[in-house]
Amino acid sequence: MDNKKATSAAKDFSGDDKIKKTRRPMKKKVCEFCEKGIAEVDYKDVSRLRRYVTEKGKIISARTSGCCARHQRQLTTAVKRARMMALLPFKGE
Ligand SMILES: [Zn+2]
Repeated sequence: MDNKKATSAAKDFSGDDKIKKTRRPMKKKVCEFCEKGIAEVDYKDVSRLRRYVTEKGKIISARTSGCCARHQRQLTTAVKRARMMALLPFKGE
């Protein structure tokens, strides 16, 4: 929305057609498990796992969750285990 404003304002008589898209500065995400000093992700910790699962039951990617590679790997297995134990749904409503 405000992006359009910026581009139209930037359209001067500079002759430059290619306007670089302005990227919002990314918020620095810190791995929650690293921050709290959790070495192993527990599949029984459903309340925490739920935050890394969408409404449809999909596992949120590391890119959006902000998890480090090590914990994201553990998280996926933990969610899959939780599904098998019927703690988390395979498919959301
Ligand atoms: Zn981590």
